[in-house]
Amino acid sequence: MLDGGKINKYIAIENHPDDFILSSGMLFINNKPDTIITVFTGDNKDEGTRILCKDYNINHIELNLPNISIKDGINKLVDEDEKKLIETIKKFESFEKITQMGCGHPAHLWTSNIIQKNFNNVIFARDFPHSYKKKNKFECFSNNYINLISISNEKLFDEKINLFKKYYKTQRALLFFDKKYFDLKPSEEYYKINNNKKYFG
Ligand SMILES: [Zn+2]
Repeated sequence: MLDGGKINKYIAIENHPDDFILSSGMLFINNKPDTIITVFTGDNKDEGTRILCKDYNINHIELNLPNISIKDGINKLVDEDEKKLIETIKKFESFEKITQMGCGHPAHLWTSNIIQKNFNNVIFARDFPHSYKKKNKFECFSNNYINLISISNEKLFDEKINLFKKYYKTQRALLFFDKKYFDLKPSEEYYKINNNKKYFG
């Protein structure tokens, strides 16, 4: 898996429309997933991943879980939501799976936690830009993971930001609010779970 930055038949589980491209856009450019599952489509207005999938002929599944804010936390989510996520991923038994690590947003952490409890050998991409914010303490968070590979390429980074601009117009404010993280042009980092550590330490 992720041999030389390439990956076999895989599905991507993204939290919000934009998370897969922001955290794994360079991987995407080299290697398209079979399916993208978008977990929190909430008000259904963000068409970004829908159009991306159409353009690239990728299967798209929207779970339509309610949007949760950083402030509210995961109180809105019920057991049914968890079941829906698990059952959907189970349909892709023979596929590699990529999702976000979960650092920096309660929705991301909720998804990552459920996937870790229910599936093996999942690849976790470092959340961009959330995990780069000091307050999210990525250094502590990443102790639960082992780094598999990093994809570092300035040209590819620019290409992925162009994809972000093209498909996620409603999210473009990020380019201003989080400008300093975009300017870093960080590599994409991919991890697996460190089974020797307890998830919530
Ligand atoms: Zn997100």
